Amino acid sequence: MAPRKLAAGNWKMNGTLAALAEIDRLLADHPAPGCEVLICPPATLIHPMAARSQGRIAVGGQDCHAKTSGAHTGDIAAAQLRDAGSSHVILGHSERRTDHAETDEQVRAKAAAAHEAGLVAVICVGETEVQRDAGQTLDVISAQLAGSVPDGATAANTVIAYEPVWAIGTGRTPTSDQIAEVHALMRERLSARLGDGADFALLYGGSVKPGNAAEIFAIPHVNGALVGGASLKAEDFGPIIAAL
Ligand code: PGA
Repeated sequence: MAPRKLAAGNWKMNGTLAALAEIDRLLADHPAPGCEVLICPPATLIHPMAARSQGRIAVGGQDCHAKTSGAHTGDIAAAQLRDAGSSHVILGHSERRTDHAETDEQVRAKAAAAHEAGLVAVICVGETEVQRDAGQTLDVISAQLAGSVPDGATAANTVIAYEPVWAIGTGRTPTSDQIAEVHALMRERLSARLGDGADFALLYGGSVKPGNAAEIFAIPHVNGALVGGASLKAEDFGPIIAAL
């Protein structure tokens, strides 16, 4: 099995019901995409987005709790995401790691819970600018992969997204060589640890736009993208999907 090709959108804390018009536009403009398309909207939009996209676009959450239910005000369980129409969940995004102090251990537990509920975990890793400047990028990515990816991960239930923290929402992207270096390392680490590591979809994320998508998708071991700002509008996300 070759890695699947996945164009994933992360709407973050953006969008109300009115934003679902973008789904109609996306489906109209790209009736037969050559890759899997996933959008992870705010939790309030998961159910209506899943209904609106009629299975033609996969829908996912942006986080889940490691437990299945209970007294955890404001949190959401993986099974609830699934019940609302999700097939995927983003875990360990750098904004969660920073804003909510999420650790690799927590991300790993959440990913195991996602798998248990039948969701594909999109696990994010990435170095800060300080870490890159200090020459620590490969060590940081190795440690995050080892710590965040549970033993039960397979190419079918897990996708890895490399998102350099300094490239998220900044308009700055790494060079192709820098992306290639990290993706080759991720492929090597996953293959060394997991039987089907060669088949995992590896996404790049961080300031992906229509203008740079094709160049990024040409990099070895880049199997798609996790797109933030440019996933909010069909006119931006559509060309990225088409480039993959
Ligand atoms: P960006 O965000 O595309 O707006 O840089 C990517 C992400 O955080 O997933």
